[in-house]
Amino acid sequence: MILSSSPPAIAQNLSVIRQRIRDACHAAGRAEADVTLVAVSKTHPVKAVIAALDAGQSVFGENRVQEAATKFPLLRAAHPAMRLHIIGGLQTNKAREAVRLADCIETLDRPRLADAIADAIQREGRAPSLLVQVNIGDEAQKGGIPLAEADAFIAACQTRFGAGLHGLMCIPPAEGDPAPYFTKLAEMARLHGLAVVSMGMSSDFEIAIAHGATHVRVGTAIFGRRPTLAPDAATP
Ligand SMILES: *Cc1c(COP(=O)(O)O)cnc(C)c1O
Repeated sequence: MILSSSPPAIAQNLSVIRQRIRDACHAAGRAEADVTLVAVSKTHPVKAVIAALDAGQSVFGENRVQEAATKFPLLRAAHPAMRLHIIGGLQTNKAREAVRLADCIETLDRPRLADAIADAIQREGRAPSLLVQVNIGDEAQKGGIPLAEADAFIAACQTRFGAGLHGLMCIPPAEGDPAPYFTKLAEMARLHGLAVVSMGMSSDFEIAIAHGATHVRVGTAIFGRRPTLAPDAATP
């Protein structure tokens, strides 16, 4: 991995990550088209996003609505195929702007946020796809619906949003083997009849693909180290 975030480095990193995704799909007996790469551009400047766009990347992840609002609308005008996923913890008072900006909100994790998003969808006349974030390791400091409440919350979101609820997302505990957590999330999605499973980051996306990820969220391995730790990176 090249840690500089110059445009050639970003293009090269992307091609390496795409090859690793292909290899992981192949090893798992899965079709390459089953896995979408979400390039996590949080904290990186617009020019880094442009370098990735120029290298053929179209799906991006940002964890703060405010940052996405300053980076994306102009680029989108020039790149209509571009897609934005919100992957960070979402405050209810940012729901409306998230619904206006995003193609997918991956962090639906509590009833009050579901209320705010439903209201925003109605007001904006625009409906991003939604993923329920599950606190798969039941960690006190992490976002996501607690495991004990997950099944009921997912079912309630399916009733409320219908086909707008596409799947589940998780961030497993930082320590230890993520595989059991990935397996658990994929199984929950299957039981609820949900197609999308967003899991796996720079350090573990191949393991996530082996366990059923349909979306992997990769930041550092594409854009290099983040200039500063995103304030909510540890507890998205
Ligand atoms: C920052 C972030 C990522 C990307 O992490 P890397 O380790 O840089 O690949 C993925 N998912 C979420 C929710 C994040 O906040």
